[in-house]
Amino acid sequence: MITNFSDEMDFENRLVTPEYSESDDSSLEVSLRPRTLNDYIGQEKVKENLKIYMDAAKGRGEAMDHVLLYGPPGLGKTTLAGIIAAEMGVDIRVTSGPAIEKQGDLAALLTNLNDGDVLFIDEIHRLSRQVEEILYPAMEDHAIDIIIGKGPSARSIRLDLPRFTLVGATTRAGQLTAPLRDRFGVILRLELYTPDELADIVKRSATVLGTSIEDDGALEIASRSRGTPRIANRLLKRARDFAEVMGNGIITKESAGLALSRMEIDPLGLDNIDRLLLSAMIKNYNGGPVGLETIAAAIGEEAITIEDVYEPYLMQIGFLSRTPRGRVVTPAGYRHLGIEMPGENSNSTQMKIDI
Ligand code: ADP
Repeated sequence: MITNFSDEMDFENRLVTPEYSESDDSSLEVSLRPRTLNDYIGQEKVKENLKIYMDAAKGRGEAMDHVLLYGPPGLGKTTLAGIIAAEMGVDIRVTSGPAIEKQGDLAALLTNLNDGDVLFIDEIHRLSRQVEEILYPAMEDHAIDIIIGKGPSARSIRLDLPRFTLVGATTRAGQLTAPLRDRFGVILRLELYTPDELADIVKRSATVLGTSIEDDGALEIASRSRGTPRIANRLLKRARDFAEVMGNGIITKESAGLALSRMEIDPLGLDNIDRLLLSAMIKNYNGGPVGLETIAAAIGEEAITIEDVYEPYLMQIGFLSRTPRGRVVTPAGYRHLGIEMPGENSNSTQMKIDI
């Protein structure tokens, strides 16, 4: 029997989702964002490259080349776009793919930019084809073609635009059309953060929030944040609540651990939904291989969300692997859930995982 577990789960209030949620409090979110490259922790390769490109552009007195940032949500793409603008000494306009419905919306945005400005388009893979077509000449020639009039008397005029930098962010670079991808001079991939880097982010955020935190308290939160700064900041705020109400306000390893287990986030940062995903695969499909769409139907979540949000971390910690025939729960995943793997230690199991 196939069990549909989704009714029991509270996807909306998931604490470890890396997507932005109202509870992140937009004003705090802004204040927790680092403003300079020096304050931006981790992603060393990305920072090094960006610094060179920005210095070179500044040296030539030009706008920075167009930048595409990609990687899972909550890793700091929007923050980096803001840093690029701040370091280049220009303004930033922020929008997103789904928010730009018509060609005219984008034309209005572009014609209102000043020389050198950054235009940040989040979820750029969700731009419609028609809107995208406006972007090509804008990125390449700093101009847009506008059609005036209708029918036989319609004519196209070219409008010059200021030199601007487009910073596009996407969770799925593979979904960008080739013509759009090719127009970015700089393409940078953001990686999940290590617990040490996240601990530094947590300590920095605690300072911004005016909260005391011990080093091992920060590490406790960091190691349960799925490699994602947005989640680390969110867990920090909840741990602060616990420390204030149940202790002396200082976040220690113990108080952080207590807060996290109350939120049902286990020592590896998995929450109910991660465990549901793994256990549904084990119970319904013998641990796989099972297709993404099938898993999505079993747990009542969209395939895209599973791919963008849940899988990267489950794969990073080695609980899930991708094979040509579908996803497979690894022996480590079984062990974490305390479920015995059929035929564990036998050769046949090994073969199944290696497919
Ligand atoms: P994305 O655009 O990739 O979804 P954001 O840029 O909105 O992610 O980052 C989410 C939050 O995480 C921000 O509020 C910021 O405070 C924090 N953050 C992200 N990256 C870093 C970093 N490298 N150093 C410090 N804080 C970071």
